[in-house]
Amino acid sequence: MQKPMYINGVWEKRDEELIVLDPATRDVHYSVPKASVQDVNEAVEAAHHTFNSSTWRSFKPHERGYCLHKVAADLRERLDEFAKAETLDVGKPLKQSEADVEAAARYFEYYAAMADKVLGETIPVEPGILDYTVREPLGVTAHIIPWNYPIQITARSVAAAIAMGNTTVVKPAEQTPSTALLLAESMEKAGIPTGVYHVVTGTGQEAGQVLASHSLVRHIAFTGSVKTGSTIMQTAAKQITPVTPELGGKSPQIVFHDCHFEQAVQTVTNAITQNAGQTCSAGSRLIIEASLEERFVEALKTSFEKLSIGPGMDNHQLGPIITDAQVEQIDGYIKQAKADGATIVTGGMKQDDYYYRPTIITNIDASHPIAQEEVFGPVITVHPFTTEEEAISLANGTDYGLVTGIWTNDIGRAHRVAEAAESGQVFMNNYGAGGGIQMPFGGYKRSGYGREKGLEALQNYTQLKNVAVSY
Ligand code: NAD
Repeated sequence: MQKPMYINGVWEKRDEELIVLDPATRDVHYSVPKASVQDVNEAVEAAHHTFNSSTWRSFKPHERGYCLHKVAADLRERLDEFAKAETLDVGKPLKQSEADVEAAARYFEYYAAMADKVLGETIPVEPGILDYTVREPLGVTAHIIPWNYPIQITARSVAAAIAMGNTTVVKPAEQTPSTALLLAESMEKAGIPTGVYHVVTGTGQEAGQVLASHSLVRHIAFTGSVKTGSTIMQTAAKQITPVTPELGGKSPQIVFHDCHFEQAVQTVTNAITQNAGQTCSAGSRLIIEASLEERFVEALKTSFEKLSIGPGMDNHQLGPIITDAQVEQIDGYIKQAKADGATIVTGGMKQDDYYYRPTIITNIDASHPIAQEEVFGPVITVHPFTTEEEAISLANGTDYGLVTGIWTNDIGRAHRVAEAAESGQVFMNNYGAGGGIQMPFGGYKRSGYGREKGLEALQNYTQLKNVAVSY
């Protein structure tokens, strides 16, 4: 069965298609059209036309907000349908997908409320001159989405872009296009005009590249790997198109001897096993005070071994790994670590071909590839320290800088370490508080720059005009 893509309000099928597999069985689940160069051009041109049309221009900011509230309401009303589609695409536990759909609804509400609250300022220049600034939309914004959190990541940048008056073209990941397509139905129902939201279901190399290079695209929200981010930025640079790259991570969890032990064990477990470790902010390195290492690792092992593994539709805690290639990638890192003398405390192997057992690795040098690169599986490496300086140096010792977790009850130390952390986000004695919709999120170093989420993201979807008036 082919699910059509959505260009200019029309559901389009094509002879050339991309096959989508159910990660839990690797069976063919459905297909989507393989968007051609022409399809992407058509979507961008229609979005450009809509941006300049009297229909979209006639919307008052609060009316755009009202529509976004209706999108949120539809996401909630159809939460089951969206969540099932997400789990069948990604493999994650249904409960997790439900939380993701709820988060998507909250993004629409959050930015709906901001539609009429983006203010300019007046700037004192000299008598007889009134100088003011206006924040204006850019035009067509492109949204290139990864496969691990499709509905949340689509919602977080699309809601902000539309709230500010832009029009949008979304390219979902090849593996997980369902929920971006379902969202088109919500947009229609909410009364968002035809042409404001398009979904082109193509490959990264073709559809993604055409989007990134298109002269009518005014901003690219890209979430994905460092390698692809770099390629997209090089392509976009030719048109001077700004990119907000939200890239990968190798996030440390720094645990001091005076932490709340049970809470730390539980949260460190969740942070590396959520979505089977296929999360940009996965807490993949445990930086642990040496005096606590043995006890903590033992408790973590018990915690990991209690987790159930199986299909996301049955709500197991760890669903399948998205593709065979991804399973092989995880296995490759583990084999290399073993060969280099690391100890596998638990896990270290596949289960039923499509799953990976949550894995703890000790006796591994912090410079080893498994401790430096994104494994993108439920694998944590353990690195003991004796001084605070050593902890900071280990935590900052990768090219990434997305999130740092700190576990201590010493308030002074917590703030010193937060100040030293080379990452765009720091969690102290929690990891992911509040779902983060209101908090600016993005990377230091190779994890990217610019911020999505929160008010900060509105900078991406507006441009600043200064007006000087003589009177
Ligand atoms: P990916 O980079 O392979 O693909 C992401 C998207 O880019 C897909 O839609 C893909 O089709 C498209 N793409 C691929 N090549 C392209 C090209 N040459 N030109 C244009 N588009 C292209 O990433 P992935 O495997 O889907 O996702 C996993 C990565 O995403 C991990 O590195 C993860 O850490 C990162 N991620 C980051 C965040 C964040 O907010 N920082 C969130 C989730 C995932």
